[in-house]
Amino acid sequence: MRILDYTTEHEAFRQRLRDHLARELMPRLEEFESCHAVPRDFWRGLGRAGFLCTGVEKRYGGLGGDFLYSAIVCGEMFRCHGSGFGVTLHSDIVVPYISSYGSPAQKDAWLPGAVLGDIITAVAMTEPGAGSDLASMQATAVEADGHVTLNGVKTFISNGVNCGLVIVAARDPEVKNPHEAISLYVVEENTPGFSRGRRLEKMGMLAQDTAELFFTNCRVPVENRLGEKGLGFKMLMEKLQQERLMCVLMGVYLAERVLEALIAHARTAPGQNGKPLAKEQAAQFAIVEMSAEVKLGKVFAETLVAAHARGEKAVEDISIAKYWCTEMAKRVADRALDFLGTEAFNNRHPIVRAWRDARVMSIFAGANEIMKIVAARQIGL
Ligand SMILES: Cc1cc2nc3c(=O)[nH]c(=O)nc-3n(C[C@H](O)[C@H](O)[C@H](O)COP(=O)(O)OP(=O)(O)OC[C@H]3O[C@@H](n4cnc5c(N)ncnc54)[C@H](O)[C@@H]3O)c2cc1C
Repeated sequence: MRILDYTTEHEAFRQRLRDHLARELMPRLEEFESCHAVPRDFWRGLGRAGFLCTGVEKRYGGLGGDFLYSAIVCGEMFRCHGSGFGVTLHSDIVVPYISSYGSPAQKDAWLPGAVLGDIITAVAMTEPGAGSDLASMQATAVEADGHVTLNGVKTFISNGVNCGLVIVAARDPEVKNPHEAISLYVVEENTPGFSRGRRLEKMGMLAQDTAELFFTNCRVPVENRLGEKGLGFKMLMEKLQQERLMCVLMGVYLAERVLEALIAHARTAPGQNGKPLAKEQAAQFAIVEMSAEVKLGKVFAETLVAAHARGEKAVEDISIAKYWCTEMAKRVADRALDFLGTEAFNNRHPIVRAWRDARVMSIFAGANEIMKIVAARQIGL
């Protein structure tokens, strides 16, 4: 079944990326996971080969591609078990804030470097006391004399160690309504008052660097504000649609890879009476049931990708898909483990890696409970 119209250009791009990742990523995957970071030379390699920020306009060095290119990059990263990387976050979640809300001067300053992989980006919303309820964030931004002074702590920030630029959400303490108080500011590395905490130890997405960020009387020019003052909350909500859609894709691609690995395993692993596991009816039924879930998720995800590429808003459906497809990924990865025997405890097995990585998908980009709240509101309940 074909839902997305990939052109020959899309397919050529996919093949080039697949070759690049086979050469540059696969041999180094364990190195990246053990140091909990993707080295900058890998980012630069991706950028210089044209695989970062595919949606950025050509005049800033980007491909000027449609959203299908983003889906291809996400899918190919998962094909190489690269689910832990902040590439999708950089290209399709953070940089779009600059492309959409940046002034011409801001775009000139940051987009070319982001496309080339010289500037790795992050977005800092979450705080120790404010995750799902973003409106309760406490970090402050006080604008005066052409500067803004930022104070506060952000936590669990992906690309937090590597980032050369972070978009920080902070509130004007004078404005009581949280939906009008938050603005977004770009803080570059080496800005006085901006420091990074320890690299957080995570159970999954091991190659992705995640850190706490501290802002202590951190002053940046007011020109570093993205968009108008007080519109930060609205911008976050607008961009969360694409972020959640990326999570939908991640869930589906991860589950597809799990299924492939399980089928390969079942063909060789022993069942009863000298037959391979794949010939046991219990294994066959499980694999067919899991395939049904993955295929349903893929149809749902690709239908939404097509709608998003046409510029349609689909808040209700994306919220439902984010919840369902990420839960599906967790179910499929968990069920697949049962067929591995002792290998299910091998940290390096691709299904074990996927099981670990899937766990966070129902939590970040809006916990699945929040997705259900948003969907229920859209339904009018
Ligand atoms: C690996 C990883 C990477 C991350 N990267 C980033 C990043 O780059 N930038 C960033 O800003 N943040 C990032 N985060 C943070 C992430 O967005 C938050 O974890 C998420 O928003 C949930 O916030 P919380 O952890 O504070 O959970 P809480 O808001 O405390 O919620 C805890 C749980 O309570 C439940 N819950 C919460 N509210 C409700 C409700 N109203 N009704 C019912 N149940 C509810 C949910 O199940 C939720 O999982 C990352 C997190 C992880 C784990």
